[in-house]
Amino acid sequence: MTVAPDAVVLIHYTLKNDAGEVLDSSEGAEPLTYLHGRGNLIPGLERELEGKQAGVRLQVAIEPEDGYGEHDEQLVQRIPRTAIDNATDLQEGMQVQAQTDEGTHMLTVTQLDEESITLDGNHPLAGQTLHFEVEIAEIRQATAEELAHGHVHGPDGHHH
Ligand code: ZN
Repeated sequence: MTVAPDAVVLIHYTLKNDAGEVLDSSEGAEPLTYLHGRGNLIPGLERELEGKQAGVRLQVAIEPEDGYGEHDEQLVQRIPRTAIDNATDLQEGMQVQAQTDEGTHMLTVTQLDEESITLDGNHPLAGQTLHFEVEIAEIRQATAEELAHGHVHGPDGHHH
């Protein structure tokens, strides 16, 4: 089998930024398991994996437009500390949930001073070139239920 739409793919991966720092890795853990072609991975990585076989290792650099998007300054906002409950608990780098008309989304606290808090609604990896080392561990057929749901189920059939 090769990686194709609706295949279940298991990958080991290490993700580094431009500076070579490891941002995320499956090393020492279970491989990442996903349903290919359903938007469960960033588009650039799905494209690189398409057509490959189990055992293949690849090293790819994914530009922001094929990853988590460009950093959008419009999503950065500075608000007074008094506008937030529990503002004293906040620290730089912390993620907080915000309720908006479009539902819940995550904001990163990027700056704190005496009076104000800067919140960034971009994905933490927006604007970054992503350097992936990937090894395809296994490829299998998806079950009918997985296809119906659009995602992979765990070995015990439960959602995760
Ligand atoms: Zn499901």
